[in-house]
Amino acid sequence: MRLHPQAPVGFAAEACLPLRSRYARCDACQRACPVGVLAMDQEALRMGDGCLHCGRCAAACPTGALAVPGFVPQAVVADSPRPLPVECWKVPRRLCAREAVRVPCLGGLSVGRWLALRAAAGKRPIEAVDRGWCGRCSAGGATHPAASAVDQANRLLEEMGEPPQARIRFVHKPLPVKAMPEAIPEPAAEFSMGRRAFFRGLMGQAAEALCVMETSASAPAAGNREVHWGPLLSPERTRVVSALRRLADRSGQPLPASIFPALHISEACRNHQVCAATCPTGALLAYQENGATGVAFNASACIACGVCQRACPEQAIGFAPPGTVAASGKAVRLTRVEARECAECGHLFAERGDEPVCAPCRKSRELAQSAFQQLFAARA
Ligand code: SF4
Ligand code: SF4
Repeated sequence: MRLHPQAPVGFAAEACLPLRSRYARCDACQRACPVGVLAMDQEALRMGDGCLHCGRCAAACPTGALAVPGFVPQAVVADSPRPLPVECWKVPRRLCAREAVRVPCLGGLSVGRWLALRAAAGKRPIEAVDRGWCGRCSAGGATHPAASAVDQANRLLEEMGEPPQARIRFVHKPLPVKAMPEAIPEPAAEFSMGRRAFFRGLMGQAAEALCVMETSASAPAAGNREVHWGPLLSPERTRVVSALRRLADRSGQPLPASIFPALHISEACRNHQVCAATCPTGALLAYQENGATGVAFNASACIACGVCQRACPEQAIGFAPPGTVAASGKAVRLTRVEARECAECGHLFAERGDEPVCAPCRKSRELAQSAFQQLFAARA
């Protein structure tokens, strides 16, 4: 859906964390918007007038639920010795290098988009061109809008042992401020197409947030056929992991450990599997095999949203600081509970602990006890 009739911002509500789960706490888009036109609550994401289509909201969204046109990477020539410049749409085409990657605002490129560019550009240095306009632009601010995403991308590249020349760097090539257009050019004009065709294309981009991605590369070890990883909800997470995998394949270096959240489940777990049922990305998944059940975890799909941790009634889920636990990005089983026979109803149940009866029988017994106590108290 489109968030506002006048604004080219596509929104896939199904991918928005707070709308999917009452346990989610996320207002990243609202905080990222430089003109404050977004308002997020547990029921809807609303947009007022005045969107700049700078893409900062979409870059901040951890799942890719928002889509703003102009940020899907174009084909990049990888074998040139010249640096690859990245420019904003406000800079007229004639002042940009012919092969420049042009986006509405550099702040609308997410970490995953920068890394995808890095992976596509081969050995070419990448230059984020700073024209000295951001401080005066409504989409800019005191610090460069791309600074944080570029920093994060560079930290990951450094952690992977990429050479310094592989880092994305800012180059200052100032242009006179009076040459700066007031607004970011209209996407329909930039793409030279009618508004109707343009909005149809935009909806295609929003649908990217919902695309079902096969995760065979990170599926659990063979022989456990009852585990099926669900769809990955987050295109941004997929972008980060696949761009880094591409670089790792090229360099032979391992993936940076810090991209894998180190989630653990303590002995307090009673195998309710609420965590797996609420995990929005399918990173946690309930499995069954050979008379046992449990929860498996795929760190590649985890966006560290904390939904599972807040949803767990036993508070059994914790996170170690990223990078402190060796993680390969392969799926692992975190818990395994053997099924046993209920001493009252005789049905099989799988629950952590040494309870001899299943949860429904326990509940009935507690209800009966409480009714008996009330009756006894009333007669006394
Ligand atoms: S595109 Fe920019 S101005 Fe529009 S809602 Fe997103 S962050 Fe705000
Ligand atoms: S496993 Fe990761 S993605 Fe899934 S709910 Fe927990 S923190 Fe969120």
